Amino acid sequence: MQKRILIIEDEAPIRDMVAFALRRADMLPICAGDAGEAQLAIADAVPDLILLDWMLPGISGMDLARKLRRDELTRELPIIMLTARGEETDRVAGLDAGVDDYVVKPFSARELVARIKAVLRRSRGEDSAGMIELGGLRIDGSAHRVYAGNEQVSMGPTEYRLLHFFMTHAERVYSRAQLLDHVWGGSVYVEERTIDVHIRRLRKSLEACGLDSLIQTVRGTGYRFSVHPAPVRT
Ligand code: CA
Repeated sequence: MQKRILIIEDEAPIRDMVAFALRRADMLPICAGDAGEAQLAIADAVPDLILLDWMLPGISGMDLARKLRRDELTRELPIIMLTARGEETDRVAGLDAGVDDYVVKPFSARELVARIKAVLRRSRGEDSAGMIELGGLRIDGSAHRVYAGNEQVSMGPTEYRLLHFFMTHAERVYSRAQLLDHVWGGSVYVEERTIDVHIRRLRKSLEACGLDSLIQTVRGTGYRFSVHPAPVRT
């Protein structure tokens, strides 16, 4: 089945170039020039992924991303942001606003399509054999085991569930309350600070293979699993 990709970009030449590249990759592009058109398109049919330009007329890409994350219908929708070169603060703000990945302009069609495919794979989570691979870690879902290269990484069942959730929802920030919902099933008997304990244990397990930096603390917000180095805040 063709993947529906919504392109939200006000610059027509870039939009056309991207649409052309997507068609060649056997995807179905849907074009929107601003947030209003995008919302109409989403109301018509929820796409499989959104390419979101950061500099839009009217509502900014970041505000739109936040809005999409708040809406039940689009909460889990993968978003790749298109950003200008050197806009480090945009990138940080974007990842905090819940985008899944970013591509820096000018980008090649090949690079963009590769990123789209990677994000779509990730958002689906795992392959048919239950394997998830990201950032040097591999989860064998059928055996409930975690590997770094050929080495098995041992961890408790809660840390395993936490890691599994993170790896199938990479690059997004989750608050403690959201993690509680997703990983603990919203159990009222678990306090939010319990999550910090399990995060610490998970990091300790990953420390053994030097991969603890994959679990990042986002100050004032929560945690995320990211294959990108933690952004330096100024
Ligand atoms: Ca623009």
